[in-house]
Amino acid sequence: MASTPYKPPGDPSDLTALKGHIPLLGLTGGIGSGKTTVSGLLGQFGAGIIDTDQIAHQITAPGGIAIPLIREQFGVDFIDSSGALKRGKMRSLVFEKPDARKVLEHITHPLIRQKTIEDAIGLANAGKPYLVFVIPLLIESGNWQGLLDHIAVVDCPEETQIERVIQRSKLTREEVAKILGAQASREERLSQANTILNNDGDLAKLNAEIEDLHQKMIGFKNNTFTSS
Ligand code: ATP
Repeated sequence: MASTPYKPPGDPSDLTALKGHIPLLGLTGGIGSGKTTVSGLLGQFGAGIIDTDQIAHQITAPGGIAIPLIREQFGVDFIDSSGALKRGKMRSLVFEKPDARKVLEHITHPLIRQKTIEDAIGLANAGKPYLVFVIPLLIESGNWQGLLDHIAVVDCPEETQIERVIQRSKLTREEVAKILGAQASREERLSQANTILNNDGDLAKLNAEIEDLHQKMIGFKNNTFTSS
């Protein structure tokens, strides 16, 4: 599996062609739940990590491939002096105007998808034992379930999410609550989880849960888990 270099059989842009060649784990969770923390630890265990949120940031950072298209569609007011997307300004716009969200997604989604595919194929060919796709809106998008072999949800109480995001960013409580309200509910997310990672504050416990998940993914062969 991982020892055989992966070659896409037909359309090189088809991520589904990876299925069966390497175990595919989807990692999701609400804003501030701890997805980056978990993927960092899985990465330390040797997993191949593809973080779609990080990719979205890369393509809208200074020099990012989405910047010229965003400038063309939304105007220079949405680009800061370093050449990066003004995230706060864009966030406010797309919250107010669904059409603007569609235009933005029309620009960014194909670029994110292309980079996701390139990274996944690169990591599969590098011999990673399994791939982790970090997808904040996995449950909401509905596109991923057929591809993934396993879905892990990082979970913590909503109040903890809000506190963590406020501490980390300049967002207000109201802004975080608004983002939370636009995401799938905790119940919806948990109902689709194969594994729930409880990130309620005890990092030692989380670490142990992540190690279990890693062992489980290592043991995934021929479409089934050989260890639990
Ligand atoms: P986002 O959806 O905003 O990208 P995320 O789900 O990736 O967030 P993280 O960035 O991993 O979440 O965590 C959010 C913040 O909470 C970070 O500052 C992180 O260091 C902190 N954090 C995560 N888990 C814990 C924990 N168990 N105890 C204390 N702080 C934590």
